[in-house]
Amino acid sequence: MRYSARDVAVFRAHERKVPIVLGSATPSLETWANATAKEMRGRYQLLTLKERAVEQARLPTVQRIDLRKEKAEEGLSGILLEAIEKRLLRGEQSLVFLNRRGYAPVLACTACGWISNCKRCAANLVLHMADKRLRCHHCGYETPVPRKCPTCGNQDIHPFGRGTQRLEEFLAERFPKARILRADRDVAKTRKQWEVLVEKIHAGEANILVGTQMLAKGHDFPNLTLVGVVGADAALFAADCRAPERLFAQLMQVAGRAGRAQKAGEVLIQTQYPDHPLYAAIVKHDYPAFAASQLAERKLAGFPPYSHQAMLRAEAPQMADAIAFLATARAWPEIATHPAVTLYDPVPMRMARLANLERGQLLIECASRPALQAFLTAWQPALAGIKSPSRLRWHLEVDPLEF
Ligand SMILES: [Zn+2]
Ligand SMILES: [Zn+2]
Repeated sequence: MRYSARDVAVFRAHERKVPIVLGSATPSLETWANATAKEMRGRYQLLTLKERAVEQARLPTVQRIDLRKEKAEEGLSGILLEAIEKRLLRGEQSLVFLNRRGYAPVLACTACGWISNCKRCAANLVLHMADKRLRCHHCGYETPVPRKCPTCGNQDIHPFGRGTQRLEEFLAERFPKARILRADRDVAKTRKQWEVLVEKIHAGEANILVGTQMLAKGHDFPNLTLVGVVGADAALFAADCRAPERLFAQLMQVAGRAGRAQKAGEVLIQTQYPDHPLYAAIVKHDYPAFAASQLAERKLAGFPPYSHQAMLRAEAPQMADAIAFLATARAWPEIATHPAVTLYDPVPMRMARLANLERGQLLIECASRPALQAFLTAWQPALAGIKSPSRLRWHLEVDPLEF
């Protein structure tokens, strides 16, 4: 069953008539709107913590490094490398944050244009150097790294882009005396491995950490005074309207790793888009400004929380079957009795194939929540009655989070 833990908690509190407190430095925009937007006035009460929990704690200074002006070596600018060097001299820790594990996101042949694709998904195979394998991060498919291009036989095939393993390798070359520790899902697969890793960091067994979002949450490393953010720009222009919200929360969290105790922290964000409002808000630690600009955009575009959505998804070995199911669902004859509801055209999902199944989706939108619920309740039995191939599966998701 698909559900939102937050919304179930709000619902249960409402049923039991008890107050509920939602606490976060970066609330979801839906929650923030419930507490602050004019049209939702009075739904939630906003309580602001005006002081830091630890008295001496200071917020880290956040700066942008303009990659259009600064030269980068293996993706790291001179400013960031110097800042890391300073920490090494002072015996403090640095964290280089890159939310992409593996060595490089793709292996490619420059002669014929071959790239390492997953046979089962619409995704690239990621290069992992430690065990010389290509791996799909979506379905788990893996294969040894080929010695030559499988298409044209060219031996000159190259990794493109970079992941945490490649950064780790470069930093080890650049700072040969430093102890470098990588923290991502490849080195910490289990809870136990993760705990051992955190202990090592606390014990000062690392000068430089290279990590993904695994390191962003909830851990306080008092000797960590520098966070360098690498490769965050990709999320600025994602098709998903919730991508900026996720990026902002992630950057706030990872910035919070720097200098939480007595030592002042510094955060350096490398970017091609230093003027982007999201980064400007991060520099000022200004969630309200960021939320206001995002909500204004969503209002213009008619996205949640200014509309309510549901998604019908179907998957089958053939895309045509998935789309045909969705088209039949859309042609439901009683749709006319639900005039407030908009049904969009069935389309392939952004990641159209996953583990040999092709996937389509149909977006449903409505300005009124009760009208959307009434429609879904009436529609569902009709969906169950649609004749479809035996390997077709479908589900309905209310308030879909990813597109
Ligand atoms: Zn080739
Ligand atoms: Zn795959």
